[in-house]
Amino acid sequence: MSQYDVAVIGSGPGGYVAAIRCAQLGMKTAIIEKYSTLGGTCLNVGCIPSKALLDSSHHYEDAIKHFDAHGIEIPGEVKVNLEKMIARKQAVVDQTTKGIEFLMDKNKIDVFQGIGSFEDATHVKISKNDGSTEVIEAKNSIIATGSKPSTLPFIKIDKERIITSTEALKLKEVPKHLVVIGGGVIGLELGQVYKRLGAEVTVVEYMDRIIPTMDASLSKELTKVMKKQKVKFNLSHKVKSVERVGDEVIVKADDKKGQEVEIKGDYCLVSVGRRPYTDGLNAEAAGVKIDGRGKIEVDEHLRTSAANIYAIGDVIRGAMLAHKAEEEGVLVAEQLAGQQPHIDYNLIPGVVYTWPEVASVGKTEEELKEAGIAYKTGQFPMRALGRSRASMDLDGFVKILADKETDEVLGVHMIGARCADLIAEAVTAMEFRASAEDISRMSHAHPTFAEAVKEAALAATDDRALHV
Ligand SMILES: Cc1cc2nc3c(=O)[nH]c(=O)nc-3n(C[C@H](O)[C@H](O)[C@H](O)COP(=O)(O)OP(=O)(O)OC[C@H]3O[C@@H](n4cnc5c(N)ncnc54)[C@H](O)[C@@H]3O)c2cc1C
Repeated sequence: MSQYDVAVIGSGPGGYVAAIRCAQLGMKTAIIEKYSTLGGTCLNVGCIPSKALLDSSHHYEDAIKHFDAHGIEIPGEVKVNLEKMIARKQAVVDQTTKGIEFLMDKNKIDVFQGIGSFEDATHVKISKNDGSTEVIEAKNSIIATGSKPSTLPFIKIDKERIITSTEALKLKEVPKHLVVIGGGVIGLELGQVYKRLGAEVTVVEYMDRIIPTMDASLSKELTKVMKKQKVKFNLSHKVKSVERVGDEVIVKADDKKGQEVEIKGDYCLVSVGRRPYTDGLNAEAAGVKIDGRGKIEVDEHLRTSAANIYAIGDVIRGAMLAHKAEEEGVLVAEQLAGQQPHIDYNLIPGVVYTWPEVASVGKTEEELKEAGIAYKTGQFPMRALGRSRASMDLDGFVKILADKETDEVLGVHMIGARCADLIAEAVTAMEFRASAEDISRMSHAHPTFAEAVKEAALAATDDRALHV
């Protein structure tokens, strides 16, 4: 029987990063993945393919809507070849997952393909596709089995017309009318992909605003911009049935007055969140407790109820984000090597890759109010930047929330071009407990979108933004 210092179950961004860090720190490491490709949800059916389609559809939208204003004329009609677009997305996925194979090989990590299940706290059985099994012994294990799309109890996902994000990444035609249930990150990103490609898109959201966990000002601005893009929103609507009739999908919901609303489309994307995935893991055999919501229980060291077994990523509490899973993978590996790493969960940024992009870190205004913390606000509109006018990306703003007394930055919320990248500056500043004035005194290259961060910091410092 092969023996390991660490067995990692699941090869998503949590698992494969944990495995690399364990190997770097000298541990003999195995990784077990049930699918034939490594990389988990993120690389195969999540972050990477969705961004590939967002990028392709963005190019198309630019070509049909914005090239002309830039003085670029395309003779003849610009057409979408969806098959080719999806094939390119798949090529990006394949290249990326192969990259993980390379990294496993480079770091001398043994890869096992099959379903990993605990026999006890130190033995993991691998059930392979060919029906054979193999048991390995591991001093420590890291559970990184991730999540799967969840649905509502009365919705039957048929994977053809009533679909999850996984199917939405490989449709064979552009929907005529895509009904998106759930105005969270995944629904909005994929909704925008098909809107750009020519679908009518209606978002049905239970809460009174989209992206409800982010700062309310971001929800408001994104709704405004997406409405300009002709996405329809039915907010405060409680979906009560989704029915397929031939090629039609009928969604019924009650609006906030309790009136029934019927929305007919040809596809319905159910994006109401994801559930932690522990099927087939046999966690009980190892003494690993799972809570009432299906998450593996962990302490602040990410240790489960079994002393030598840890859990990370989407399968435990906290934001379901690839970079959160990665940080946790590194944390567990370093702890196993005797180090004392730390994660500040308040500083894990959240991003929505619509256009304009939305990004956030730290406390929202609503959270600060609820906690009774006195704060000041500095906000700067993207349209006041030379860079925005040059690229015609005028929507959005950067908002900085700083402590009223100390000026320490408590939260940064932004919507606009390239905010997914801009948020890194805010994370860095907050990691070093910068004040708004600190940011405002740093030189920001001109002309860049990053100047909006400096200007918002100036506005927060002493209401002294320079360009408004
Ligand atoms: C459409 C979409 C877009 C997204 N976009 C973003 C984004 O832009 N940015 C971002 O940060 N996050 C994004 N996410 C979320 C992100 O994908 C997840 O947070 C991340 O993948 C979680 O990583 P993980 O390692 O915990 O689990 P996963 O990536 O879910 O990986 C778990 C792996 O474990 C394997 N597994 C499960 N059980 C077993 C078993 N018993 N034996 C062996 N293997 C097993 C699974 O097959 C899977 O490969 C997106 C998700 C979706 C669906």
